[in-house]
Amino acid sequence: MRIVLLGAPGSGKGTQAKKIMDARGIPQISTGDLLRAAVAEGTPLGQKAKAAMDAGELVADEVVIGMIRERLQHADTQAGFILDGFPRSTVQAEALDRMLDEAGQPIDAALLISVPFENLVKRLTGRRTCADCGQMYNVYFSPPAADGVCDRCGGTELVHRADDNEETIVNRLEVYRTQTEPVVDFYGQQDKLHRVDGEGGLDEVYQRITDTLGL
Ligand code: ADP
Ligand code: ZN
Repeated sequence: MRIVLLGAPGSGKGTQAKKIMDARGIPQISTGDLLRAAVAEGTPLGQKAKAAMDAGELVADEVVIGMIRERLQHADTQAGFILDGFPRSTVQAEALDRMLDEAGQPIDAALLISVPFENLVKRLTGRRTCADCGQMYNVYFSPPAADGVCDRCGGTELVHRADDNEETIVNRLEVYRTQTEPVVDFYGQQDKLHRVDGEGGLDEVYQRITDTLGL
């Protein structure tokens, strides 16, 4: 199954995408993760992307479209994939459709995880990621069992993302509203849009997703 996960920053897209990946054996493709890896490695692409990411702006469409085009050529996408954080503008959504049409492998479903706007800031400021295995936590809503220790791998470096500070968060939410919300309508017009309530526990939300998509 080829799935696009949509939702504001902090809606839980990344966490849920990882759960689908683990359960279904199809890869999660996150442009945010790919970009952060490029920044960490200091590649030319990463150097280009860094300023936009730090400011909470979108990285240029041609950069992320090129990244996705390359990633979708890997053999592990044959059985399907979950796109997380892409497309984030209608230009990206149109480019994705063209790419997938050429391959005869259109998107099957777009899933919007909806969370009331006023809850997003707290979710984002509380977010932590395990530096070793990528598992995500939230110090307010879903902390690890032992303070500062990853439940999954025992790692002790639970890091706060550089762009999860209040100033940048406000900008990211605004960018979502103006540039990414039109993508929701884009899939609505194609009759591919499904919505799930993103409030409640991780497993509860995951259950809603699998019910909605028939996974
Ligand atoms: P979140 O959805 O929580 O904001 P992501 O990890 O998806 O976080 O994205 C982090 C940052 O990476 C974004 O604020 C943006 O700068 C950049 N980015 C990620 N995906 C895209 C994309 N598809 N187009 C443009 N920029 C992107
Ligand atoms: Zn871990």
